[in-house]
Amino acid sequence: MSARILIVEDEPAVSELITVNLRHAGFSVDAASDAEMAWRMLRQDRPEVVLLDWMLPGMSGFQLIRHMRADQRCREVPVIMLTARVEEVDKIAALDAGADDYVTKPFSPRELVARVRAVLRRRDVQSVDEGVELGGLRLMPQTRKALVGDAAISLGPTEFRLLHFLMTHAERVHSRGQLLDYVWGGRSHIEERTVDVHIRRLRSVLEDHELDGMVQTVRGLGYRFSTGPADA
Ligand code: CA
Repeated sequence: MSARILIVEDEPAVSELITVNLRHAGFSVDAASDAEMAWRMLRQDRPEVVLLDWMLPGMSGFQLIRHMRADQRCREVPVIMLTARVEEVDKIAALDAGADDYVTKPFSPRELVARVRAVLRRRDVQSVDEGVELGGLRLMPQTRKALVGDAAISLGPTEFRLLHFLMTHAERVHSRGQLLDYVWGGRSHIEERTVDVHIRRLRSVLEDHELDGMVQTVRGLGYRFSTGPADA
């Protein structure tokens, strides 16, 4: 994963700390020290996520996000607000202005990386929100309905997200770590065997319809959704 992240932060030490951690996590990073500079950069090359400080000299983070949300090219770019303020009203104001998430300073770099992954994961899921149909199984994320033919099947929210991710990325093998990143939104607090537990639950629901064979274990690698035969 080498999604491009733009950091907008006027404190060099904070900006540097975030940059180092995101690069270490495999992201490509650009930094702007104020909102005017960020605005110019945003209009040249669209990043995949913006980490935006709330308190900036000149144009504030709050104003920048308003500009972004009113702009055709930047409207869809997810924004995580970085704020030193802890009052609930500011968090609400950030989300109301169009932020996708916020992190209160001081934050742990690990947590920030997890939040970035979560925002990317949600964006990936939303981009295929129209639903998916494969091998007689149909998922509709907007209504959270899963159907086998005309019969509704009952999946827990995690099983639903897991199956949706696997089906929208069918025939590809995903490691447990990748599934934690994309389905759970970060692996920082969750053990990899959690994935196995949910895969088991998912299979047991699909088993009633003899469809569990599509959720396949790929030995030593992870899992995949496939309408073809499983590896021997
Ligand atoms: Ca600041």
